[in-house]
Amino acid sequence: MTFDWLIVGAGFSGCTLAERIASQLRQTVLLIDRRPYIGGNAADALDSHGILVHVHGPHIFHTRSREVWDYLSAFTSWRPYQHRVRALVDGLAVPVPFNLDSLKALSPPSAFPSMHQRLIDAFGEDAEIPILRLRQHDDPVIRDVATLAYEKVFYNYTLKQWGLTPEQLDPAVTARVPVRLSRDDRYFSDPYQAMPAGSYTSLFQRMVESPLITLSLNTQFLDVPQSGYRRLVYTGSLDELFGYRRGALPYRSLRFDVEHLPVQRFQHAATVNYPNTELFTRITEMKYLTGQTAPGTTIVREYPQPHQPGVNEPYYPIPLAAHRNLHEAYLADLPSLGRPVLALGRLADYRYYNMDQAVARALTLFNSLPGLLSNGTPPLQATT
Ligand code: FAD
Ligand code: UDP
Repeated sequence: MTFDWLIVGAGFSGCTLAERIASQLRQTVLLIDRRPYIGGNAADALDSHGILVHVHGPHIFHTRSREVWDYLSAFTSWRPYQHRVRALVDGLAVPVPFNLDSLKALSPPSAFPSMHQRLIDAFGEDAEIPILRLRQHDDPVIRDVATLAYEKVFYNYTLKQWGLTPEQLDPAVTARVPVRLSRDDRYFSDPYQAMPAGSYTSLFQRMVESPLITLSLNTQFLDVPQSGYRRLVYTGSLDELFGYRRGALPYRSLRFDVEHLPVQRFQHAATVNYPNTELFTRITEMKYLTGQTAPGTTIVREYPQPHQPGVNEPYYPIPLAAHRNLHEAYLADLPSLGRPVLALGRLADYRYYNMDQAVARALTLFNSLPGLLSNGTPPLQATT
């Protein structure tokens, strides 16, 4: 049998396109993943103690997009959940994002009132300011605040996570966790924040339950004969697709250290960051995220590592100009595959997408398919 589509990768990108193609175009899809489970990096599973654990690190759903929220709500009900993070700094557990309470806890008591006032005068109540912008402010009092937050929360954490300083990275990376001029201690400020009421895995299973979709796990792209499909969607890494012929695209990886403890609760927040101590960046206690009740608890420590192809997973694209240029060069190689191919997702787009952004990208690409298909000529390569 020849499928209308081969989709490589059963994460959010691949599953969203598979679902749309099957339900809206009524075409057949062979959806493959080399891993033995569905869901890509958002996969979850019960550990040997019956605690639901995210296989590739803690995943919290949040979005500003009503479209993405409505789309995914067709496949899961939700458990309302607001993620809260503390950082252990000088023996104190302070809120992250760094907010007015963090400032009060870490600044000299005599300095806090004037710092607070100058911040509000400059930016207004409830503002959110990227740390690198705050560091460039004209007012020396505001720069003192920036130095405090930078040195206590950002600098060492970033060095540990990326092997680079905040200045060496795209400013968008540290801007994900801005300094907040309020006492709001939620990690995200998006209007939609929730966790699947069951599991991510059941969400993905519902997305691909159409009889027009054939899911094949433990299957590599190169395992599928070219005669088996007409069109190709690829959500893996482009350097690997081309045998690293232009060199490896740099990624950051992680090692997860999962530990089960015979206690109800291990820590006082879902995630505790360790910016300045320890080799790991953070500890997340899974039961906070999933709402599961159980006598024991499972925690996950994240140890950042350089990515080595074939040894560990390519988790984070490293957003630097030179890496983007290499990615562009690989994109330009797509026509050499000799057949139409759509490349998308955190890996193939080499973009630091959150889950909702991966879904949004897939929905946008799907909506542009009629135009792409009517052009007809290979490659069907979408621009990001
Ligand atoms: P992936 O999930 O990476 O799926 C790609 C799939 O393709 C993989 O399953 C892979 O096995 C498969 N594949 C690749 N090459 C081949 C091949 N040649 N043959 C067969 N299969 C192949 N986002 C949030 O919104 N909130 C969070 O809290 C959050 N936390 C995160 C924590 C960590 C540690 C990481 C790494 C990411 C986190 N994310 C989070 C981001 C989220 O994981 C991604 O946005 C999302 O998983 C991207 O989906 P995707 O389908 O594009 O890619
Ligand atoms: N960050 C930091 N200290 C913190 C939390 C975050 O320096 O306590 C910086 C760090 O550079 C990190 C980035 O902000 O990589 C984005 O953090 P986020 O929690 O969004 O990263 P992710 O969950 O994607 O690993």
